[in-house]
Amino acid sequence: MQAATRELREEIDEAIARVLDSGYYLLGKELEAFEREFAEYSGAKHCIGVGNGLEALILSLKALGVRAGDEVIVPSNTYIATWLAVSYCGARPVPVEPDERTYNIDPEKIEAAVTKHTRGILPVHLYGQPADIGRIKEIAAKRDLWILEDAAQAHGARYKGKPAGGLGNIAGWSFYPGKNLGALGDGGAVTTNSDDLADRVRVLRNYGSRIKYLNEVKGVNSRLDEIQAAILRVKLRRLDNWNARRRAIAAQYHEGLQHSGLVLPYVPEWAEPVHHLFVVRSKRRDALRAHLEKSGIGALIHYPIPPHLQNAYKDMAMRPGSLPISERIHEEVLSLPIGPHLSETQAATVIRAIEEFRA
Ligand SMILES: *Cc1c(COP(=O)(O)O)cnc(C)c1O
Repeated sequence: MQAATRELREEIDEAIARVLDSGYYLLGKELEAFEREFAEYSGAKHCIGVGNGLEALILSLKALGVRAGDEVIVPSNTYIATWLAVSYCGARPVPVEPDERTYNIDPEKIEAAVTKHTRGILPVHLYGQPADIGRIKEIAAKRDLWILEDAAQAHGARYKGKPAGGLGNIAGWSFYPGKNLGALGDGGAVTTNSDDLADRVRVLRNYGSRIKYLNEVKGVNSRLDEIQAAILRVKLRRLDNWNARRRAIAAQYHEGLQHSGLVLPYVPEWAEPVHHLFVVRSKRRDALRAHLEKSGIGALIHYPIPPHLQNAYKDMAMRPGSLPISERIHEEVLSLPIGPHLSETQAATVIRAIEEFRA
């Protein structure tokens, strides 16, 4: 993150100065420009900047009309924000297990989870790899459900050549600093091809108001501010280059670790991932992580505890063993260092350290 800021420091300084000189800090020209640019980037007709990724999902669900008593299909294997957005609307997240190779929701298991209360499907493009949207769309069409993409880890990812963010009915994005496209603070966005949904999110994010002091619905305050929008515009211009660097590192890892005994990321032929994370699996995960740490390599776990076993969801009373695939994944995954500013030499050091561990 520091390296990204260093690379772009002058342009970022200029962008911030432009905002300070304009005197507009919210809902101004920078946001409008960013919304236009990011809509185009993600192949959607509309983009609406909001406060963060969680609120992008919440406002999308609200715009889709989700209410108490509704059910929404979510992946069992995801960051908890996906579930929390559904819960916040008073609806019930209904977990579906992942495909063990891609870690994304297994489309073949979705229909069994659909009830008369189900309103939609909320697939996540986890670790920057697109979910199997084609299959999910078939099921959504058959059961009359909408699709909300959680694209928080997938800026630039493509499914059969089409960018994430315009694949379903609506999509939620996060610009948390560590994401592939990250602000220097909190930020988020919603993209959609629907004029109607875009209009609803636009009103909801600003107190339910289109005209000042005229409130049509009970909205919230969730806006992407001018400084973050201006910074994101600078970074968006660099995103494809940065994603290409991530791809090069991923290729280096695939090559260097093919005989490592680790389970490496699997990429279906229709997927163009952006490697938000490079996640490997090992039965000796904790020992491997300790060994890497000793060699000065930080490897993180995404994620240590699945949502259904978090205290926050104890009301669902789901015991260990109730979602076995997700639980096993959580016990074995390790994220190797990856990012646009990781050098080839640094990646080679990681590969060497893993070889040492095996020996
Ligand atoms: C980061 C993330 C979010 C939430 O984004 P914030 O901007 O941190 O609120 C939601 N879903 C997934 C999958 C994420 O990785």
